[in-house]
Amino acid sequence: MLIDTHSHIYSEEFDADRAETIARAKTVGVSHIVLPNIDMSSIERLSALAHSDTNFFYVANGLHPTSVNANYKTELNDIFTDATFALLPNVVAIGEIGMDLYWDDTYQKEQKEVLDFQLEYAREKKLPVIIHCRNAFAQIIDVMSARDRSGLIGVFHCFSEDYKSAKCVVDMGFYIGVGGVLTYKKSILPDVVSKIPLTSILLETDSPYLAPVPHRGKRNEPSFVACVAEKLSQIIGRDYDDVCDVTSANAKKLFDLI
Ligand SMILES: [Zn+2]
Repeated sequence: MLIDTHSHIYSEEFDADRAETIARAKTVGVSHIVLPNIDMSSIERLSALAHSDTNFFYVANGLHPTSVNANYKTELNDIFTDATFALLPNVVAIGEIGMDLYWDDTYQKEQKEVLDFQLEYAREKKLPVIIHCRNAFAQIIDVMSARDRSGLIGVFHCFSEDYKSAKCVVDMGFYIGVGGVLTYKKSILPDVVSKIPLTSILLETDSPYLAPVPHRGKRNEPSFVACVAEKLSQIIGRDYDDVCDVTSANAKKLFDLI
């Protein structure tokens, strides 16, 4: 069994062959896929796909940091209404949320505010969070450290920081989301995953982005989560089936999946 804890296959990149893509994922043993939201413009597509198979798709609702702009208050309000949640089956997390200062830090202050709001929402609703962190690890830790974090759990998805940061995440009781980057030649992730316990790791694809070797540069898809599991098994010297079982159990525990 494999769980892709982060995929955007509701996006238009899969419109031409979504059914085949899902079938391929099931063929390699994927049993659940978590679909994280981006903003209001993605809700309808996400909802339609999630409703198509409620035993397979699970949903995270939230506002992505790259969608935080001058209009963020309206966007945030619209996402966190009962009406929006009513559109979504199987909501198991708040995500994806976080900070992204890679391309643009114009809205850094607003990103912090939006992150903090969503962390509080998740804490109140007792839902885990899916954190997107790009060039903003210190800033995210600042926001998290400044607030009441009791009961808050989650995953730093598509983790790309060093061991020291990974340890900080694990010490907070959070998971590390590992995807295609693990398979890249210059990646520092092999060092990270060999030093943190397998019980703190979730597998993901972040499809359609960041396809693992040997598919690097092409469109990523949930079936490729098997390549990530394979690579992880080689790096840490554990059985492939073991890696699949432990990481799936981690995902089930965090997202309370059936
Ligand atoms: Zn994502």
